[in-house]
Amino acid sequence: MRGLILSSSTLALWLTAAPLLSADTAQQSATMQAHTEHEEHSAHEHGVGSLSIAVTNQTIEIQLDSPAANVFGFEHEPSSEADQTTVAEISAKLQAGLDLFEFDQDAQCKLEKAELTTDSEHSEDQTDAKAHEHAAENETPTHRDITVNWLFSCEQPSALKTITPHLFSQFNGFEKLEVKWVTDQHASAKTLEQDEAITLAP
Ligand SMILES: [Zn+2]
Repeated sequence: MRGLILSSSTLALWLTAAPLLSADTAQQSATMQAHTEHEEHSAHEHGVGSLSIAVTNQTIEIQLDSPAANVFGFEHEPSSEADQTTVAEISAKLQAGLDLFEFDQDAQCKLEKAELTTDSEHSEDQTDAKAHEHAAENETPTHRDITVNWLFSCEQPSALKTITPHLFSQFNGFEKLEVKWVTDQHASAKTLEQDEAITLAP
């Protein structure tokens, strides 16, 4: 039954582009807000996603910005039943963050919350109002981006040495993931082309 409830709210989310867990939004930490505020709108390139990781004290905040196609396999309005099932299933998977990120076991990290937002679809040529009409008829490619925020907390943060994203194995659409991370002592970046551990300290 829980799955059913999730799928209908997820679908509403896709259609309205409203935050899924809106009640929690106001309580997001400063770091997470900072991420959202200067949302870098990197070029919409299928296959490419960016991951920002902030490790502070006992929490790990992770933000994924990606074309929707990388995870859902499409970006059009989910009209068919098959599309809607896909949206529901993938949304649930995105929110079960512990399958998507692996932490050192001794750190005892658990998922606190996850939030998925999708922007409204945008056509290739937004200067032309006609482009949107055509987009609805699938004559012009339309695009959609997603942002997913996860918040984890760890019982033993000192044991946290690595974070391994499993986005390549969990989703079909990723070819490249631009990962940036920051801890109390260190900040770095790396481009991944497969699931691979990120070592937090140099
Ligand atoms: Zn696209």
